[in-house]
Amino acid sequence: MAATGSSFLARIAASLALYFVSVQSAAFEISGSKWKGGTTDFYVSLSGESPSGIAWHDSFLAAIADWDDNTVFDFTVIEQPIDPCLEDGLNSVEFTNEVCGSEYGANTLAVTLRRLSTTLLGEPNIFEADIVINSDVRYDIYDGALYPGSNRRIDFRRVAIHELGHVIGLEHESQELAIMAPSIGDIDRPTQDDLAGVETLYTALSSCTQNALVLGEKTNSLSEGDCTVAQITAGGTDFSYIDLYRIDLEKAATLSLTMTSSSLDSVLLVSDLNLTVIDFDDKSAEGCSSTLTRQLNPGSYLVLANTFDKQVDPACVTEGDYSLTAHYQSGYPLPLGPVISTSDTPARGTITGAASNSNGGFYQSRFGADESIKVIGQIAVAEQDIGKKGFVVAAAITGDQIFALNSVGVFVERVDNSRPFPQHRKGALSANEEVIMLDSVVPTTLGITELDVDFLLGYGLDSDPGTVFYNSTPIKMVIEPASP
Ligand SMILES: [Zn+2]
Repeated sequence: MAATGSSFLARIAASLALYFVSVQSAAFEISGSKWKGGTTDFYVSLSGESPSGIAWHDSFLAAIADWDDNTVFDFTVIEQPIDPCLEDGLNSVEFTNEVCGSEYGANTLAVTLRRLSTTLLGEPNIFEADIVINSDVRYDIYDGALYPGSNRRIDFRRVAIHELGHVIGLEHESQELAIMAPSIGDIDRPTQDDLAGVETLYTALSSCTQNALVLGEKTNSLSEGDCTVAQITAGGTDFSYIDLYRIDLEKAATLSLTMTSSSLDSVLLVSDLNLTVIDFDDKSAEGCSSTLTRQLNPGSYLVLANTFDKQVDPACVTEGDYSLTAHYQSGYPLPLGPVISTSDTPARGTITGAASNSNGGFYQSRFGADESIKVIGQIAVAEQDIGKKGFVVAAAITGDQIFALNSVGVFVERVDNSRPFPQHRKGALSANEEVIMLDSVVPTTLGITELDVDFLLGYGLDSDPGTVFYNSTPIKMVIEPASP
């Protein structure tokens, strides 16, 4: 996160000058400003046709297609007239004799007016972009070299392509061959450099690894070599380090997150997959840690472990180790990921399950030591295995200790790993095998005040006892001294 930020709403103009201006720069130019999700609607309804008989409208649609067909950016065309000078959040194009209240520059063919909105991460987003085309210019439509001479007609389509490049988020490029050159020339379509600019702008987030968010505690660090905000947003000067954790929620759930560090100034954010921040905490005034609890609708989210690009708090730094703790509460269990196999035999079946407070209907991963806890799992046995002789196993893992659920439903520590894993149940497999791992257990009555347990369950066939199909994501149960 940038150490200082200001909220603003700006309307900026990018124009195409008729005469050559010499500016030196590297390949494609982008500021990092872009459309959330890489898509927008565009209203087009141009009347009239060029001297060569092609309708301006059709040529503009072709210019949209030149970007839409060749990049990840998606335009949705709506063939309706909208005044481009209205600040209405709708993008449109029109021939005009002024730039929405100001005069066209002497050599200006067209202007793109962009409106931006500030974001917490990266450069401001574009939320409106309108194109006005100078109606005093003599246009035609043709490919190839520009017609020579001072009385020449200008090719309309390449002007439209250039302005649409500004709509998408491209700036002027003077070094490479580009339709985004600061002045019009013989280039009549987007070049490799132009297309690479769009790709860089809209695929930046995928350049950074997205780990799965795991419940419980995970340690990590922010340090050199990690992704930065500037990297994942393709722009700006926020070079603060950032780690990405993804969670997919099939049902609404409340996530409780804590980023703890004694020295790293922790900034914790929750965003959607377009990096639109839903909630954040940067409690730099109270130590170096951050925490937030947020109710989330079904959907996919990123939990972002971030820091500042410059030191803000004298007691905290912008690089170092942290631990990320994640817990959930929901009326529904979280999915346990794909079933995996202990051998080369491909996994089959489906496993679900969760821990819950036996007094209420909530599934959760964190409990107070005085709460009554129930942990249940269900195995939907694969069709081909139903009725066959097999077994069901369940394990509870805490630290280095592994406990196996025995045939009377009690977890017993496994001390001799050379012996076969104890089976909870054996015999003909049912279509649905329910496993009660804990039922109405109150930790304090067992003298337990703190515990972190991963539950795994699975099944196998007597004909291949070395193969067990089990849940890849454990059922998490963390017990804390007091009720959270
Ligand atoms: Zn321009």
